[in-house]
Amino acid sequence: MKRIVRLALPVPLPRSFDYLAPVDISPDDVGRMARVPFGSGEKIGVILALPDESAVDLARLKPLGPILREVPALPADWIALVQFAARYYHHPLGEAVAVALPPGLRVAALLDDRSADPWLTLTDAGRAALAAPGRMSRVRSLAERLFEADLPRSELVADFGSVAVREARQRGWVIEAHPRRDADLSGAPTLNDEQRSAVDAVWAQAARFSPFLLHGITGSGKTEVYLRLIERALAAGKQALLLVPEIGLTPQLEARVASRFPRARRVALHSGATDGARCRGFIAALDGSADIVIGTRLSVFSPLPRLGLILIDEEHDASYKQQDGLRYSARDLAVWRAQQAGVPVVLGSATPSLETWQAAQNGRYRLLKLERRAAAAAPPTVRLIDTRRIKLKDGLSPPMEAAIAARLERGEQSLIFLNRRGYAPVLACPACNWVSDCDHCSAHRVFHLSERLLRCHHCGTEAPVPRACPQCGNQDLHGFGRGTQRVEEYLGARFPQARILRADRDSIKTPAHWAALRHAIEAGEADILVGTQMLAKGHDFPKLTLVGVIGADASLFAADYRAPERLFQQLMQVGGRAGRAGLAGEVLIQTEFPEHPLFDALRRQDFAGFANSQLDERAQAHFPPCGAQAVLRAEALEVDQAIDFLKRAREAADPFADVVRLYDAVPMRLVRRARLERAQLVVEADTRAALQNLLAQWLPALYALKAPRGLRWHVDVDPIDL
Ligand code: ADP
Ligand code: ZN
Ligand code: ZN
Repeated sequence: MKRIVRLALPVPLPRSFDYLAPVDISPDDVGRMARVPFGSGEKIGVILALPDESAVDLARLKPLGPILREVPALPADWIALVQFAARYYHHPLGEAVAVALPPGLRVAALLDDRSADPWLTLTDAGRAALAAPGRMSRVRSLAERLFEADLPRSELVADFGSVAVREARQRGWVIEAHPRRDADLSGAPTLNDEQRSAVDAVWAQAARFSPFLLHGITGSGKTEVYLRLIERALAAGKQALLLVPEIGLTPQLEARVASRFPRARRVALHSGATDGARCRGFIAALDGSADIVIGTRLSVFSPLPRLGLILIDEEHDASYKQQDGLRYSARDLAVWRAQQAGVPVVLGSATPSLETWQAAQNGRYRLLKLERRAAAAAPPTVRLIDTRRIKLKDGLSPPMEAAIAARLERGEQSLIFLNRRGYAPVLACPACNWVSDCDHCSAHRVFHLSERLLRCHHCGTEAPVPRACPQCGNQDLHGFGRGTQRVEEYLGARFPQARILRADRDSIKTPAHWAALRHAIEAGEADILVGTQMLAKGHDFPKLTLVGVIGADASLFAADYRAPERLFQQLMQVGGRAGRAGLAGEVLIQTEFPEHPLFDALRRQDFAGFANSQLDERAQAHFPPCGAQAVLRAEALEVDQAIDFLKRAREAADPFADVVRLYDAVPMRLVRRARLERAQLVVEADTRAALQNLLAQWLPALYALKAPRGLRWHVDVDPIDL
């Protein structure tokens, strides 16, 4: 009889915990959740194994509490995935489990008896009703929810009430969904040769691990390739996982999946969904009833017993890397999963990350190219405006203004792109040099004119705009530099007849805002758009023919070695917005460095040239992907405490100094954040394996180091912001 149960518990310690098994324990309980006594309280953990022996004396083990048998057991490959993530990112296993499970899973599973809970789907009539203008109502919101994915009735009742569900059925907007896995190909384009050979190449490898880079500019038909691959996977009785950067920002993609597979069970998973929705989606994936899981980075942890295909859209997107807690890359974990499950994985992008590009160059990934735009339009022409000898007005040059005026005259749209929201980066007093610093961070608070606020973009704290200088009483405070609000204001004064829309994280706070804004743009209700990279992501704006870029120079010479890669990706992406529906597009970039090779490559739309020259530079510096990095960060009340901790950490790593490079402990560029002061220590190795080897031996030493009260530290493996 098995006597011992080993669990992962959500506590910040890098180990598992053993308990005494109840008499009715069975091997089927591995993967189940259970309550256990812990300290003076209780915790819920996941049963990892029923080992024969424990390092702890049996007499000292506490008995396990109740096993939550209502929740289906997590499969072994899921546990292996989370164990790998914990090991690779050097994060406590129990905390990794807590990240990978949707919050509240143990409760949600009790809520519904799924056999008596039919899934509902939107009918054509429901879709038509949504497309027509109408008042917001419960029934309408219910229909909007179903537009994303079919859902169990109980969930709709929980969120909208049974009256609304009944009403929606009576109107014929909603019916019971019978899962049908076939695609609705009415309205689907005939694949061109490049697309067809891409689909065939991937599906020829359907039964084994095979990674692909699908490289094609915006509009070259990548999404259509994804849809055809999903079709094949579903036809083979498999589940497909489609990872997207930010679900609220990619509703067009969701809508296309929905209309191509109207009767398949689709599950949408993202952090904006309610706990209940996330749990039900998770369980639908786990019990195999979901056919397609679309989701942001967290959905890489969906258990998928019939997994047959993984797709990663915009694989270069930074949002795939989690920036706190378990600092995982969903893209990298997805590739690991594909290998574990023996299935193909497709990484799609117009501007792949250098990591993925390198893998495609050296043959680890197969490169699939889409070189033509599927839907007519030619790539935009890129021109530079040399601003060295031009006087700018609120950041805009006369040629830029002329280009906007020409669009206004022709009834076309312009987009002014700059990556800085707010009105001005800083409010300052010209009399005494006071500046609007954040009290908690070593950063300025940004001046937001429309809300009359000073807001710190690092810690989020806000303060009202002072009427007079807090230091000398001068009433004439100025905003210096410019953000989207200021450009919007200037354009409003310069082109009073134009309708101007701003799109950044201040003006768009919910997916509904975003949907309304996109609708207004598509309907031609705006002439000039001002926005941050939020506008750069995959959307079709048929009347948009000019993209004007201002303020890009700052990224050319930034300290972060990834800045040029990001700038190129952003400019390429935002440029792809221009001229998609038969109208020629133009990208105008204001710069004081018109000879910079990055712009030259951009003008020729030469991603390969740019990427290869960047790879050469990285290879010389041994920077990733030509080497591996991790960073140890510490934060404390005073930066000296953090530095001191890192120095001792560095000494503990000295024995490995011949296989890895240990840099000095330095204060971070943004030293203070949210009252804490931060420092970091970068570690580099030639290979990931060498780095992992060091980390595995170093981490126990770090846990053993004495740290002053209030000091916190973490390791970030494969960091993307140094
Ligand atoms: P991407 O995902 O690379 O941006 P999409 O798949 O969204 O490209 O395709 C861009 C546009 O071209 C879409 O409107 C799509 O319907 C259309 N399209 C895709 N493939 C074809 C094709 N083979 N023939 C005609 N139109 C196509
Ligand atoms: Zn002053
Ligand atoms: Zn702050």
